[in-house]
Amino acid sequence: MPEETLFDQILSGSVPSEAVYEDDVVYAFKDINPQAPVHVLVIPKKKLESFADVRSGDDTAVGAFMKGVSRVAAELGLEERGYRVVFNTGPEAQQSVLYLHAHILGGRQMSWPPG
Ligand code: 5GP
Repeated sequence: MPEETLFDQILSGSVPSEAVYEDDVVYAFKDINPQAPVHVLVIPKKKLESFADVRSGDDTAVGAFMKGVSRVAAELGLEERGYRVVFNTGPEAQQSVLYLHAHILGGRQMSWPPG
């Protein structure tokens, strides 16, 4: 059984968060330490631990999650200017919470390569 993480607690409401979007599949909330004017985290309600688990995940659930991330970006009004979606995965990418989450970053000009 995977360990309960901060994002399990945010999803259950035992840790407060600032919701921006929710449906049957995803929960989206503001990052506590924003790296852009818009910085939202999107998590699937059906837990996976990381992007590495996506390939063994249920096709319907994974597809619905990806659609949810796209929907959140649209709801945030980011489509015209553009935005970045980041899945930090594992230690070198500095994934700090073992619960799959997409970072949606927008509202400023991005640079490449990322740090
Ligand atoms: P990671 O580094 O795992 O890809 O992303 C974890 C993210 O969770 C970080 O961007 C961090 O700022 C955010 N975070 C950490 N603790 C909290 C919290 O208590 N509430 C919210 N809303 N975000 C958090």
